[in-house]
Amino acid sequence: MGNEYPVEMKTFRADLHVHTVLSPCAEVEMIPPLIVQEALERQIDIIAITDHNASANVKAVQQSAEGTGLTVLPGMEVQTREDVHLLCLFASLSDLEAWQHEVDLSLPDELNPADHLGEQFIVDKQGEYIRSEPRLLLTATKFAIEEIIENVNKLHGIVIPAHVDRSSFGLFPTLGFLADWWHFHALEISRHITPEALYQKFPSAKRLPVIQSGDVHRLSEFLGSTIFEIEAPNLSEIQMALRAENSRNLRM
Ligand SMILES: [Zn+2]
Ligand SMILES: [Zn+2]
Repeated sequence: MGNEYPVEMKTFRADLHVHTVLSPCAEVEMIPPLIVQEALERQIDIIAITDHNASANVKAVQQSAEGTGLTVLPGMEVQTREDVHLLCLFASLSDLEAWQHEVDLSLPDELNPADHLGEQFIVDKQGEYIRSEPRLLLTATKFAIEEIIENVNKLHGIVIPAHVDRSSFGLFPTLGFLADWWHFHALEISRHITPEALYQKFPSAKRLPVIQSGDVHRLSEFLGSTIFEIEAPNLSEIQMALRAENSRNLRM
């Protein structure tokens, strides 16, 4: 007899695209304790914090979620030089911080016009104001898509094009194609489309797994429609589920 025991998979409901008050377009209610409370009320088990080209609030949300059972993955929504939005997800805060350093160097030296675009707040785990981010975040980095994939992979992170169906900053409407040399881990669709409708419009999407997220800018936008059948709520398990490996699975 071998020592192979059937591994018990658990079901985790996820929304991997959540903004905080650091994103100028997010509502002021997007502070750590309210994000955590709302996710838990909706039976969501895993979220990723993905502010635009920024990550300074990730740790505060993680601290706020401590002991609640909610897993908060470190992430960022990066705008490529082609004006496509990519979700970059990391296994650890230190990997994300290394990536943030590269993004900081690749952003234009411009100030955020807060009156026009909105404020960019860095807060603590209670949601109390610490400082405002003065730099323009809602803009393109200098990185091309393939440079982001390469650099994030080096940091053991994964890259998922965001809201690929959406006309603003979505991969398909913006570029019109999915190059086969882009090794994305999945595609994200918005709440406005089903995977089937995506495949019909953009048949090349079929070669990648599809997740759906809320692109949450206000508390009412949590979706939690993506379900991972995995052993534990972490990035390497999610990667296995995206590849349907070792009995891990993804469903919607
Ligand atoms: Zn976006
Ligand atoms: Zn977003």
